[in-house]
Amino acid sequence: MHALELDGVKQILGAASDAILAQTETLTHADQAIGDGDHGIGMSRGFEAVKVRLAGDCASVSQTLGMVGQALMLNIGGSSGAIFGTLFLSGSKAVPADKLDAAGFAAFLQTGLEAVQKRGNAKVGDKTMVDALEPAAKAAQAHAAGSLRDCLQASAQAAWDGMESTKAMVATLGRAKTLGERAIGHADPGAMSMAFLLRGMADCPALAKP
Ligand code: ADP
Ligand code: MG
Repeated sequence: MHALELDGVKQILGAASDAILAQTETLTHADQAIGDGDHGIGMSRGFEAVKVRLAGDCASVSQTLGMVGQALMLNIGGSSGAIFGTLFLSGSKAVPADKLDAAGFAAFLQTGLEAVQKRGNAKVGDKTMVDALEPAAKAAQAHAAGSLRDCLQASAQAAWDGMESTKAMVATLGRAKTLGERAIGHADPGAMSMAFLLRGMADCPALAKP
């Protein structure tokens, strides 16, 4: 699978939404451990809203990704509403209107990452979703000339490894900052969401078609 058109993009975004909805409790527990416990509820509210919008008319691939960002921005609340909303809203501007291929997906993640960092100032090592997103963007770039499926698989794996790496970190931003060394041993909830989102997309059956 080298590229998806609008219908396929809607399917991978639906799969990403379902991945978050399936992990709501896991995300809640993660945020209860090192935050205020609202991350699972917020993300699931955001992706429920995404699913409602995906069921309606979507004009183009780039507008659909932007619409996801809007829905997240309006419905999640908390830090992650702005962060995940910005990822999709800004990332969508780097994607061609009519199709998503590996190069487009790599551009989406890289542009989204830059906007997230401009907004929240997080860098790798701060124990945030950037610890999953930045390696995912790099992996996507490394696979930008190949198939979309391989690109998504590589970025999902990199995001997962990045999420795992946050377990060893002390937070320097956000609510977990006040916990100091007590945050060690727990994965960052936003990094978990990032890993679940990309895993959901990468495993979507829409990518398995020849
Ligand atoms: P809140 O912290 O307002 O309760 P959430 O619990 O929904 O919001 O989201 C927390 C997640 O947001 C964190 O686990 C982290 O990954 C992400 N986050 C917080 N601040 C930033 C930031 N400045 N940059 C990137 N991600 C951030
Ligand atoms: Mg929280």
